[in-house]
Amino acid sequence: TLEIIIRPPWWQTVWAYTIYAFLIGLFGYLLYRYLLNRQFELQEANRLRELDEVKTKLYTNISHEFRTPLTVISGMGQKILENPKKWSIEGGQLITRNSNYLLQLVNQILDLRKLESGSLKVQHVQSDIVSYLQYLMQSFHSLAENKDIRLHFYAEEKELVMDFDPNKIQHIFTNLLSNAIKYTPEGGDVYVRVEKDEGGRARDEGGRAKDRSTRSTLQIKIRDTGIGIPEDQLPHIFDRFYQVDDSSTRKGEGTGIGLALTKELVQLLKGEISVKSQVNKGTEFNIQLPISNEGPLQETARDQIWGTAAGTAKEGTGKNLLNKSTAVADTNPLALIIEDNADVAKYIFSCLEDRYQLLWAKNGRQGIDMAFETVPDIIISDVMMPEKDGFEVCQTLKQDVRTSHIPIILLTAKADMDSKLEGLRHGADAYLAKPFEPKELNIRLEQLIELRKKLQDRYRNTTSFKQQSGNIEDEFLKQLNQVIQDNISDENFGIQQLCRAIGLSRTQLHRKIKALTNKSTSIYIRSIRLAKARELLKSTKLNVSEIAYEVGFSNPVYFTQVFSEEFGVPPSEMR
Ligand code: ATP
Ligand code: MG
Repeated sequence: TLEIIIRPPWWQTVWAYTIYAFLIGLFGYLLYRYLLNRQFELQEANRLRELDEVKTKLYTNISHEFRTPLTVISGMGQKILENPKKWSIEGGQLITRNSNYLLQLVNQILDLRKLESGSLKVQHVQSDIVSYLQYLMQSFHSLAENKDIRLHFYAEEKELVMDFDPNKIQHIFTNLLSNAIKYTPEGGDVYVRVEKDEGGRARDEGGRAKDRSTRSTLQIKIRDTGIGIPEDQLPHIFDRFYQVDDSSTRKGEGTGIGLALTKELVQLLKGEISVKSQVNKGTEFNIQLPISNEGPLQETARDQIWGTAAGTAKEGTGKNLLNKSTAVADTNPLALIIEDNADVAKYIFSCLEDRYQLLWAKNGRQGIDMAFETVPDIIISDVMMPEKDGFEVCQTLKQDVRTSHIPIILLTAKADMDSKLEGLRHGADAYLAKPFEPKELNIRLEQLIELRKKLQDRYRNTTSFKQQSGNIEDEFLKQLNQVIQDNISDENFGIQQLCRAIGLSRTQLHRKIKALTNKSTSIYIRSIRLAKARELLKSTKLNVSEIAYEVGFSNPVYFTQVFSEEFGVPPSEMR
């Protein structure tokens, strides 16, 4: 026998296999590390993007929230400098109100920061909380009245002495109350109910008896009959900067800080807050605060303990001035202001009132209706408004023949290029960023009115106009001329018949024609008749009276007279 041992080649040795295994292991590990890293990176990127979105939202919200009062403040400041006698009182009020609002806003943001870093301390006093809440509620009465909302206050006990931090309670309560009013449509109700709950009967049925005897809580319920919050949004509303409706058409103003701050404050006070809501039925916030009686007892000298705690609710008292009919001549151009913030509207009024007749619409929808109805000479519109935003207003009005010719200025707190382009794309004629200078506004207005004169020049020679541009004004005049031409020999064809044929009201037609041609409707009809007459004189052998009848004049003498007025020569000579 010959024993032959075949040795494996080096790549099949035990050593080689060990190395293979090691290499595969290493490779696997590296791959795993790589994938893990990638996942981290993706997550990180997502997180950054989310953060970025939150930031952008914050910036747009905050800047809008700041710019609006700033517009009023800086504008009114200038007004006062220009004419101290006239504006000092009214302007002073507006400035005070709006700067208080700004201050409140800044304080809220700072409070949130302080809460975060844990440096906000509770300062208890012992006093009657029921009367304190009633007192806080008072500052909301005028706000609610303006919106035709009824406020109801119900307390189980007339008086309830306990520890509380007036400043924190003020923040919590006013935030919830202002939300309730803000998100409840006109004619609704807001109920506040204060109850003492002995030992939390509803919550721990499991019978933690020792808690029961010691921990009684105060319940404050704030219920409204407003728009409600969709169920899927409920978990988010306490998030910072979260707003259920964050479109530019959202109702009311706000930054989405209110509830976040409220929740943090309630937690700081060792309480709980919960919410129930049904869309279009209403919302109820429920706050539970532990009751203790340890703090320094205070007599009910309100102002001493509560100091300046009373809320500076934003009151929409702008109405009064706006309703005051501005005493300007009827010949001044008619301007429509579409702006939801009464103070800003008031300020714009003050800039324009001696040169324009002014109308005010509180939101986009009302603005559109009023524009159709009155056909103003110029429109100044905010962008962020309830119901319909400025872009929609622009688009709707520019596409409707009744209002397509009206220049529109968009006024907005969003000053970036994109919004500007967006505005222009929707047909705005100019775009002004808040806060704006009154001079700038006036110059813009003059420019636009100037532009309209050019338009009038273009349409002056109404009959020779045969351009094929397809623009809405051309089409309108073409149609108008056609209708008149079709009825030219009918002497009874007048304004009424024309309105019916075109489908516009008398005022609408009048203001439209006036804007385009600077002529009244009857003069416009006449000028078309006369132009036709001139054409007939040149192209036919008919005599003057025949031509007069032909173009709808029953009296040849009158015809001769107006013809001479229009063209400077009598018909016979024209021929
Ligand atoms: P602000 O910072 O000025 O309070 P905000 O009111 O928009 O701004 P929050 O108070 O934090 O912000 O409220 C967050 C969102 O929750 C609101 O934007 C609103 O959509 C919704 N919300 C709050 N309260 C109510 C309510 N009573 N009814 C309906 N929706 C509400
Ligand atoms: Mg709020």
